[in-house]
Amino acid sequence: MIIDLKRVFVNEDSSLPIEYLLDMSTVDFSGVYPLKEPVRITGTVSGKASLVELNAEIIYKYEAPCDRCGTYTAKSHTVKINKPLAPSIEGEDSDSIIIVPDMKLDLDELVYSEVIMSLPMKHLCREDCKGLCPKCGKNLNEGACGCPEKEIDPRLSALAELLDD
Ligand SMILES: [Zn+2]
Ligand SMILES: [Zn+2]
Repeated sequence: MIIDLKRVFVNEDSSLPIEYLLDMSTVDFSGVYPLKEPVRITGTVSGKASLVELNAEIIYKYEAPCDRCGTYTAKSHTVKINKPLAPSIEGEDSDSIIIVPDMKLDLDELVYSEVIMSLPMKHLCREDCKGLCPKCGKNLNEGACGCPEKEIDPRLSALAELLDD
């Protein structure tokens, strides 16, 4: 979706609400399609004393197998955007400004890149996921498997219990 922001740039003290869903279900991230549900964007573009700003929140649900044990897990992530908008760059500092040529904001492109950059590098069913036994493949979150080698260090399991709370 392209948003025409001329009204906000021309009139001071005006704002434009944004409420929008973007389909990103075709995004392939290391072999899975984690964004099955549409990505939700809410926020406003507001102008005040010749400064036009975008304040928005992107919420997406990331669904993929746990990195350690493979259990299918869904987690919600939020990206906050709080950036000034300008039709062209005036200084060199273009990273903190969103450029909107012809006062038009390409929301799809913006949301797309913000979400891609924020995709989790680590996706676990729970922080202390014990993973699978490398020998028998049992999911160790469901209990020990009884394989003789590679006993869990008692100090580590005590720590895991602490972290469980
Ligand atoms: Zn797991
Ligand atoms: Zn085992």
